Amino acid sequence: MRPLQLTFAIIKPHVVKQPLVLETIRDMILTSNFKVVKTRRHAFTLKEAELFYEEHRNKFFYNRLVTFMTSGPSDFYILARDDAIKEWRKLMGPTKVFKTQFEAPDSIRGQFGLSDTRNATHGSDSPESVRKEVGLFFPHFDIENWYQEEEPKFRANQ
Ligand code: GDP
Ligand code: MG
Repeated sequence: MRPLQLTFAIIKPHVVKQPLVLETIRDMILTSNFKVVKTRRHAFTLKEAELFYEEHRNKFFYNRLVTFMTSGPSDFYILARDDAIKEWRKLMGPTKVFKTQFEAPDSIRGQFGLSDTRNATHGSDSPESVRKEVGLFFPHFDIENWYQEEEPKFRANQ
């Protein structure tokens, strides 16, 4: 069996407000063979949003993004799978909504992205991002030894 890799995912506020869409995305997560290791529902504070998106702070969309991400609760996930970082980004689809319609209409963003800002989900882009992002939202999670310490939980809705 190939080793499990962790990734960090967020379901963004506009989706959390829509129970049926949320349920559909959870189903997509599980049927794509991700194991849900941790979940948490939490509204970004301004400080957290600024830290989380610090690489984008000079971009034209930054204020819009921070305002949106602090507008209500998001769902945070630690997911495990082989090649989890790449596979989750593939399931999410492209960042920009217009691109999803050509490249990946069935992806999460293709189906549920409303705009470039409200594009439904987040996924880490590298092992370094996973470490930073998990550290921000699951500060007690032992990213190096997690599989030795607890059984992964397989249900998305806990
Ligand atoms: P991601 O890794 O695919 O989420 O994309 P990025 O790391 O490049 O950008 C972070 C987030 O900023 C995206 O998920 C979008 O919500 C937002 N974003 C990125 N590019 C744009 C853009 O061109 N316009 C707007 N309005 N938002 C953007
Ligand atoms: Mg990114």
